[in-house]
Amino acid sequence: MNARHARYPFLGESRAAVQEAGVDLGRVVAEDDAVVERARERVVGALTAGDIGERARSDRVELLSYPVARVLVSVVDEHVLVRKYADAEADAAHDRFTTDETDETELKSVGSDASLSRAALLREFDLTDHVHATDRGYNVDVPTYLLLASSLRADGWRLVNRALDGGRVPVTENELDALLEQAVRDRVAEDLPLSVPEGIEEPLETEANAIRDVLSDMDLTREIDTVVPDLFPPCMQHLLDQVQRGEHLPHHSRFAITAFLANVGLTTDEIVEIYSVNPGFGEEMTRYQTDHIRGESSPTEYTAPSCATMKAYGDCTNPDDLCDAISHPLSYYEAKLDDADGEELEDWRDSDERAESEADD
Ligand code: SF4
Repeated sequence: MNARHARYPFLGESRAAVQEAGVDLGRVVAEDDAVVERARERVVGALTAGDIGERARSDRVELLSYPVARVLVSVVDEHVLVRKYADAEADAAHDRFTTDETDETELKSVGSDASLSRAALLREFDLTDHVHATDRGYNVDVPTYLLLASSLRADGWRLVNRALDGGRVPVTENELDALLEQAVRDRVAEDLPLSVPEGIEEPLETEANAIRDVLSDMDLTREIDTVVPDLFPPCMQHLLDQVQRGEHLPHHSRFAITAFLANVGLTTDEIVEIYSVNPGFGEEMTRYQTDHIRGESSPTEYTAPSCATMKAYGDCTNPDDLCDAISHPLSYYEAKLDDADGEELEDWRDSDERAESEADD
């Protein structure tokens, strides 16, 4: 474990260093207060200041606090926390690698072995073959650009607003750094929340409760328990439409819409009912899959996939302007509900449409 691993804990080589050192995460969370405290700081700082805080003096503490922070985020299990935590880690990484490229003073203070070049970062994310240096900056292959830029908010990132050069998207050095920051954000959020064994979760209960308190003070979490399909994101409306027309969906698409419906508060019976508009639907399979996703027949309660994952599987359909400002379909829905605050919203569960379909049964 070295200073570079501590400075860039999301790198594959940093993860390998932890594995090679034979670190037992269970023992670390039970016995190493410094690591747990620094992990708590990373997460609370991400929530309250959008910043992971000052790095620990010890490389070991700093590096190990990253996987422990991911565990803490998973134990608390709120998607707003995943989003804010990934944002703060990506922001810190961006500050560091842009400094590494330009500022010798910083490198002297951390040691040049700790630095990470832009080229190394491109290699880390397998982007070397898709990003091409030019006289004016870089040209990025369109699929790579779309994968990274579609979660960025400003209009200027939209492909329709970019000039193309030979089928590639020209970007400046600063823009490339922003795309790399997005790659880090996706890496940090990848697989979160993790499935955490009880032996690791238990010693972290105090820290997890402290984070829950911060979240509830900030009023960032809200139990979504309102079902208004017209406000669903376009991707989920499209998938739901396909389900109701009885079209066959690939597993990842079916998982996405079922998890989304479960996350917005529908019970297994209600999801089965929503699907059953088409008589050809498979009730048994729907019930089995829904129970599994809801954590009733499995150890994990699953969250619907992020926009990055939806895009990677081709499930992101008809994104609109709001999509540019969010990175998760649930955030889209929350934002729509916020916009409609004060309006009379009819919950699908109380709708006439549903009453009629029940009467027909
Ligand atoms: S950007 Fe996200 S919310 Fe919008 S359609 Fe695509 S996957 Fe859905």
